[in-house]
Amino acid sequence: METRCFIDGEYKAAAKGGTFENINPANMQKIADVSAGTAEDIELAIAAATRCLNSDGWGYKSTGAQRAAILRKLGEIFTARLDEIARMDCLDHGKPKREAEADVNDAIAACSHFAMLAEKQDKDQDEVIENGTNGDFVTKIRLEPIGVVGMITPWNYPFLMGCWKVIPAIAAGCTMVLKPSELAPMSCILLGQMCLDAGLPAGALNVVPGLGQEAGAALTQHPKIDKISFTGSCPTAQRIMAAAAANGPRGLSLELGGKSPLIAFEDCDVDATVDWIITGFCWGSGQVCSATSRVLVHSSIRNAIIAKLQEKLAGITIGDSLGDNWTNTGAIMGPVINQVQYDKIWAFIDEAKANNVACAYGGERNLVKGLPGFFIPPCVFTDVSRSERVWNEEIFGPVLCVNTFETEAEAIAVANDSEYGLAGAVFSADLSRCARVGNALRCGIVWTNNCQPAFIQAPWGGVKKSGFGRELGRWGLEEFTSVKQVTSAASDFKWGLW
Ligand code: NAD
Repeated sequence: METRCFIDGEYKAAAKGGTFENINPANMQKIADVSAGTAEDIELAIAAATRCLNSDGWGYKSTGAQRAAILRKLGEIFTARLDEIARMDCLDHGKPKREAEADVNDAIAACSHFAMLAEKQDKDQDEVIENGTNGDFVTKIRLEPIGVVGMITPWNYPFLMGCWKVIPAIAAGCTMVLKPSELAPMSCILLGQMCLDAGLPAGALNVVPGLGQEAGAALTQHPKIDKISFTGSCPTAQRIMAAAAANGPRGLSLELGGKSPLIAFEDCDVDATVDWIITGFCWGSGQVCSATSRVLVHSSIRNAIIAKLQEKLAGITIGDSLGDNWTNTGAIMGPVINQVQYDKIWAFIDEAKANNVACAYGGERNLVKGLPGFFIPPCVFTDVSRSERVWNEEIFGPVLCVNTFETEAEAIAVANDSEYGLAGAVFSADLSRCARVGNALRCGIVWTNNCQPAFIQAPWGGVKKSGFGRELGRWGLEEFTSVKQVTSAASDFKWGLW
């Protein structure tokens, strides 16, 4: 398993020789010592990316067709190595096998979608736009790569979050320095080699694992970065914005956290709604930016929803999904990522219990007694005061808060009463009500009668403290594309100003 920095098409140890320990959160065993990149490695990576951007084979001189061919090949490589990549994320993150496989399949779908969009860029090149001069001037639009992009990703989807940035940036012809999370860097380190194998020129993608305050900070502070694309927490985003202002200004897109509501009206299908709620807060053990963490149910179905949640949650198998020799143990809910997150999540649960918030499920450490990793059983709080921290703050763990409402207006007001605005869901048999409520939610993603699917073709991102900019779909490609106008004089018209 490769553990070193990938710079200019080659794996090399960090310049200062440092490493950090990478732990499997499902059994607390060491996976590997990984190279801890620092400012020196970031410098080399940015130099390689800058050279490549200006080379004949890539960057400004590349075509959409060339980029599409690389992406299609990359999709074939992901398909051939699906098992290997998924296992790597299982080990690194502790996520169940089915989740890790779903992530790789999403990345495969992204390769073909962004290949198609790259080809479309060729067709859209030199589009003539109406400029209101009756032909005296002709204005054309050139689509160009935005430049050298610094990418910083979190640990909750180790491979997929890297791919959500790298694949669209390849489609746009950019060059990149990717700094994956130090908590789960392995599959992104491998991504460097896979991109090279797919035909991406050396230097186009550089991967520098390392700590946030070292490799991450050096990347965001570097003057030769044209854009930073960041996914992670709000406090880190604030530091990155300050660095972008001090060393830029430069482009920035931020995909941050959430406290996403789900509204269930009295006419919803209770059984199906509860399945979606469980997906919403147990997938990834709740370590999902769009996780369903606040459920608002109409008071008339409160008891039915809670009873169904209790029944279905009792059937979830928690544990390490990878047994000896890679056999699938059948566990469908894994651990949380590390001791820090484990302690943080239990602190939220313990505080709510100490404040006498009713707990309808979980909330007890002995439910997962005997499991060696950082396992936390699903926890459901009910009738939660809106001043409680569990109701307001992003927990990033399998903790759900349920409250009741009486009217549609009340449900909308409470759902919108959050500093975050990533996603929201509405469940009702009345589709016009779903549309009305969905339109009233202040967030970037709305699901009606479903929750959590992310489609490669659709924009992903939030409002308020959930960040700005969009990933995926044509909007994701635009984040890495610079739009240039080229205006030519087409008559002897005199501007008449001089
Ligand atoms: P984090 O902010 O702690 O770390 C994210 C990345 O930033 C890591 O690679 C880390 O090393 C790096 N980093 C840390 N300090 C840095 C600094 N000073 N300068 C530059 N880089 C630095 O977040 P996390 O704990 O890895 O991830 C969890 C957070 O990510 C949650 O808030 C979650 O909601 C959010 N998230 C959002 C999305 C989305 O699409 N909106 C997706 C996944 C995760």
